[in-house]
Amino acid sequence: MNFIETLKLRSKLLFIFIIITVGLVFVGVMGTLNLKSMKKNLDSLYFGSLMPVTELSRIIQTYHGALASTLYKAKNSQISHAEVKSRIKAAVEDIEREWKNYELHFKRDYELGYVEYAASEIKSVNAYFISAVDLIEDRSDMTNISLASIEKKISHIHQVINKLITYEVDVAKHERKNFLSLYETILIKVGTILVMVIFGVMVISFYVFKSIQSDQTALEIATKKLKIANKKLENASYTDSLTGLHNRRYFNLVYDREIKRAKRNNSTITFMMLDIDYFKQYNDTYGHIEGDFALKSVAKVFKDLLKRPSDFVFRLGGEEFGILLTEVNEENSAIIARNICDALKAREIKHEGSKINEFLTVSIGVACCVADEALDDEVLISKADEMLYRTKDSGRDGYSITTNISVTTPHTTEQSSA
Ligand code: GH3
Ligand code: MG
Ligand code: MG
Repeated sequence: MNFIETLKLRSKLLFIFIIITVGLVFVGVMGTLNLKSMKKNLDSLYFGSLMPVTELSRIIQTYHGALASTLYKAKNSQISHAEVKSRIKAAVEDIEREWKNYELHFKRDYELGYVEYAASEIKSVNAYFISAVDLIEDRSDMTNISLASIEKKISHIHQVINKLITYEVDVAKHERKNFLSLYETILIKVGTILVMVIFGVMVISFYVFKSIQSDQTALEIATKKLKIANKKLENASYTDSLTGLHNRRYFNLVYDREIKRAKRNNSTITFMMLDIDYFKQYNDTYGHIEGDFALKSVAKVFKDLLKRPSDFVFRLGGEEFGILLTEVNEENSAIIARNICDALKAREIKHEGSKINEFLTVSIGVACCVADEALDDEVLISKADEMLYRTKDSGRDGYSITTNISVTTPHTTEQSSA
C-alpha cells in the first residue's frame, strides 16, 4: 500500500471514491449476470417441461375424445357419416400438429430412439383411423369396425404417450433438483463476491484513511515545527547575536509601543543611553576578541540588574546600550543609573587604558518624564543622548538625568553624578 502513501489528499479521496464505485459496479454486474442465469433456469424449468407435457396430454385427449368417441358414436349411428369423416380428419390433423410441436423441443441423443418409436406408433394409429374414414366412404357401413380393436389401439397409444409424459415429468423433477442446487451455488457465489468486494473496499479504505491520518499528523507536526522555527527566527531577528540582548530593531518596536502606552496612561517613562568609557582603548589594549567578551560581561551586568518584565535592555550598536523603564520615577531612575555604574565597576573588568578607573566603566544619560499627548517621541531619546554627552563631559563613569522633556512641562531638574 506504499503507493497510497505517495498520493496527495485529493487523489486519495478520488481513489477511494473510484474503488467504492468499481466495487458497486462489480457487485451489480455479477448480481445481474447471476439473476439472468437464474431467470433462464426458471424459464426452462417451468415452461420447458410444461409445454411438452401439455402437448402430449392434448394428443391423448384427442385420441380419447375426438377419435375414439366419434367412432363409437358413428358405430351407434348417433352422428352422420359426413360429420364422422370431418371430425376424424380434424382430430388426426390436430394430433399431427401437436406432435410436430412436441418434436421441436430440444431432445437429448438418448431420448431420440423412443421419440422415433412413439412417432411411428402415432403414425400407424392415425392410419388406422384414416382407414376407418375410408370404410365410411366405401360402404357407408360401420359395423365392421370392432370396438375391441379401437380400445386396443387407443390404450396402446395412450401407454406410449404416457411413457413420454412420465419421462418428461422425470426430466422436470431432475431439472428442478439441478436448479435448486444451482440456486444454492449462485447464492454462495454472490455472497462470496459481495463479502470479497466489501472486504476489499474496507481494506483499501482503511489504508487510505490511515494514510490521510498520518498525513494529518505529519502536517500538524510540520506546522508546530514551523511555528517554533518562526518564533526562533522572530526572536533571532530581535536579538543581538553577541550579547543576547534585544537589538535596535526590537528597540524601535518596543519604544514605540511603550511610549504610546505611557501616553495613554499618563505614566512615567524613562529612557537611558549608555556608552562604555574609553572602549576604543580597551580594544587597543586587549584586542577586539577580548573587547567582545567585555561587551558580553557588560550586557550580563545590565540584564542581572534589570529583571522586571517592564524593564528593557537593548544593545543599540557598538558599545552603546539603551534601557527603557516604565512606571519608574525620576528618583528611582537615578538610583538605577547609579546602581548600573556601581555594578559594572564591581564586576572588575580590568581596563588599563582607561583614564578614570582601573576597571571598565560606563557613562549614562537619563531622560525621565510623565508621558502626555504633547510628548514628542524623539525628544526622550535626544534628551538622553544630550545627558550622555554631559556625563562624558563631566568625567564619565556616572549619569546625568533630566526631566525637561515635554514642551508643555516647564518643570526641569537636571543633575549629574560622575
Ligand atoms: P568614550 O569614552 O568617549 O566613549 O570613548 P570610546 O573609546 O568608547 O569612544 P567611542 O565610543 O567613539 O568608541 C567606540 C569603540 O567601541 C570603537 C570600537 O573599537 C569599539 N567597538 C564598537 N563595537 C564593537 C564591537 O562589537 N566589539 C568590540 N570589541 N569593539 C567594538
Ligand atoms: Mg560610543
Ligand atoms: Mg564609548
